[in-house]
This record gives sequence, structure tokens and C-alpha cells, in this order.
Amino acid sequence: PETHPDLDLRDHIRGIPDFPKPGILFYDISTLLRHGPAWRAAMERLASMIRPYKPDMLAGIESRGFLVAAPLALELGLGFVMLRKPRKLPGETIGLDYALEYGTDRIEMQADAVKPGQRVVLLDDLLATGGTMAAAIGLLRQAGAEVPAVAALIELTFLNGRDRLDLPCETLLRYD
Ligand code: AMP
Repeated sequence: PETHPDLDLRDHIRGIPDFPKPGILFYDISTLLRHGPAWRAAMERLASMIRPYKPDMLAGIESRGFLVAAPLALELGLGFVMLRKPRKLPGETIGLDYALEYGTDRIEMQADAVKPGQRVVLLDDLLATGGTMAAAIGLLRQAGAEVPAVAALIELTFLNGRDRLDLPCETLLRYD
């Protein structure tokens, strides 16, 4: 049973116009993080959505994805893998380059982080165009993981990010 079933998470997310650049409405989860009951409710609800996929492990995308994946891993009694920006992780790493609107970016993980066939559910704070999620899915698969689903707190539905993904995508709050 949920600790705070009547709590509306929308009351705890704010949209900040023109950040980080003009024309972007930035969905700020800081206010959700600051509110104990709301943050707890968000994690409980996301945990319920993820449990049916029977993950062996969770993965989070730097850096706000870590804030979601780490508490969920604790809640589900699972381990957690970091997908990071280049050159942040020690030891042997594997990486994947992906295209941005302007230029490219890269994500990396430790080469020994997942065992072949392990079921890894991937988390981020927000799904926009889906480019970041698609790259992270590609990297986890390259590492030998099976990715049964991805999940995020927030989905910007007008960007159709989920159409770029070939697997189930669970999101708590949708904005259009
Ligand atoms: P995308 O690759 O376009 O799906 O972008 C998703 C990534 O960018 C996530 O890691 C988000 O944290 C961040 N992001 C993109 N758009 C926004 C937005 N409007 N508000 C907050 N974060 C965003």
C-alpha cells in the first residue's frame, strides 16, 4: 500500500521557462526532491510500475537519473549501475556515441557492470526526444544486458520520444 495515495505529484514539479536556453520549458524536479512525502510517493509509484518487469538490476543515466535509480534500487532490493558522461568511470569501460540536435555526446559504463542476459531496467528523470534513452539502451545491450523496460518520472509527450524506443516505457507524469 502507498504511504501517500492522495498526493498529486504535479503540485511538486515546476516548469521554468527559458532554461537552459530561450524557448525551453525546463521541468524542475528539485521541488519534488525537497518534499519528503512527495518524493517517497514518486518512488513508491515508480517501483510498482517497474516490479512487473522483474529486473535483476537497475541502471540510471547521469545525473538526475541517478537520483531516481538509486532509491528505486533500494526499494526493490536490487543493485544499480551508473551510465556516465565520458571519462568519469575508473577501470575498463565501454561507450556509445550518439547524435544531439547540434553535435554528439557519449555515455559510458564499466565493462563488467552487467552479466550477459541480466534484466536491467533503465531510469532517467525525464523523457524528451528519447535520444538519451535510446543511446543508453544501446549501451546496455552492447554490454549483454536484456532491457525489459525503461522508466522516467516525466514524459514530454509532444516530442514522441517513446516512438524511438523499441520497448515498454513507463512514466509517472505526462505533459503536452
Ligand atoms: P532527450 O534525449 O531529448 O530525451 O532528453 C532527455 C534528457 O535531457 C534527460 O536526461 C533530461 O534530464 C534532459 N531534459 C531534456 N529536456 C528537458 C526539459 N524540458 N526539462 C528538464 N530536463 C530535460
